[in-house]
Amino acid sequence: MKQHEMLPLLPIARGSGAWLYDFEGRRYLDAISSWWVNLFGHANPRINAALHEQIETLEHVILAGCTHAPVVELSERLSALTAGKLGHCFYGSDGASAVEIALKMSFHYWRNNGRHEKSGFVSLAGSYHGETLGALSVTDVALFKDTYAALLRQSAQVASPDWRLAGAGETPREFAIRCARALEAHLEQHHDKTAALIVEPLIQGATGMAMYDAEYLRRARALCDRYEVHLIADEIMTGFGRSGTFFAHEQAAIVPDFLCLSKGITGGYLPLAAVLASDTIYQAFYDDATARGFLHSHSYTGNALACRAALATLDIFAADDVIAANRAKRAALTLAAAPIAAHPRVRNFRNTGMIWAFEIDSDDDRFARRFHQAALGRGLLLRPIGNTVYFMPPYIIDDEQIEWLIAGTLATIAESTA
Ligand SMILES: *Cc1c(COP(=O)(O)O)cnc(C)c1O
Repeated sequence: MKQHEMLPLLPIARGSGAWLYDFEGRRYLDAISSWWVNLFGHANPRINAALHEQIETLEHVILAGCTHAPVVELSERLSALTAGKLGHCFYGSDGASAVEIALKMSFHYWRNNGRHEKSGFVSLAGSYHGETLGALSVTDVALFKDTYAALLRQSAQVASPDWRLAGAGETPREFAIRCARALEAHLEQHHDKTAALIVEPLIQGATGMAMYDAEYLRRARALCDRYEVHLIADEIMTGFGRSGTFFAHEQAAIVPDFLCLSKGITGGYLPLAAVLASDTIYQAFYDDATARGFLHSHSYTGNALACRAALATLDIFAADDVIAANRAKRAALTLAAAPIAAHPRVRNFRNTGMIWAFEIDSDDDRFARRFHQAALGRGLLLRPIGNTVYFMPPYIIDDEQIEWLIAGTLATIAESTA
């Protein structure tokens, strides 16, 4: 709040498509999809229509003992998107709660199988899985974690396959293989006390859009199988087409044991999360004894409006063949961004799916704030992480808006490195 005395908050009056408008009618391109949640623009007519209809029908009902059409349909459609391999859906309210659910369920699975000692978790260096206590304990971002260290359960971190850390002459894939060996060494030693490995597949978002080769996931899957450790795919950010495929783990042709979804699930409209799990997991809880069941509840779990927004979002994916359409958009944006990639102050220009990122050489410790402010002056909402600038636009971004984004970013780079 003290910083905001110098950097006033941006009051937003309304949104339309990729644009946000302030009260003076100035517009800002939402190039970060409002913290990675928006997929098809603000005030999307199709999602709006579905919500109007839903709100006149059923806004919410307790999901313990009751059920409703949107939650049933959404569960079936999410399961179908994993080719039925993850056929069970547990609902939460936001990304962090999805991670809590997956961690608890993995721990409880081993307990129900008499493996009480399998209670630990392992995650990648630099990972981000949310900021409630359980999720924060597997997160590895010092700024968010260090203050609360005394409140957190220990977890282990293994080397991140982030290709920026590869050795000279080492390809991203070779580096991924080297990091998978480090994971192997860890599991070899600790598997009997490890319940699960949790990863952000292909892109570690909050640490600064670290990208890595899919080979790591293939090997992680094989190692988890060999050592009887669950693989939790935290696709809260990468899911729903952001990585270029519907789910990022598809690019490694693997199936996780748990799949955590949130953020884009409702197209950026309403908070909702889902954890999908395999039949094997489900069966471990299928019992007459209540305490063997998975006891975890959120009052708004499976909210009907949120589920309906998610269904409308899935309808758009199908109707507009969004995954294919995004391939063309990705190529167009990458081409337009060539002057950024070639800029002398820019390093590590990278892209996976609908995410672009690069570092800017600067020794200003307020770089992120200054860049953000300068970009706003050019009608762009960007929010660097340290020196890392990234684009994560809504999928409806058009050619003209791509031009606006690139021109505005180049001008902002010039201004902020002057
Ligand atoms: C955002 C995010 C979370 C946490 O989601 P919230 O809804 O902010 O609690 C967890 N994992 C990943 C990978 C995320 O990007």
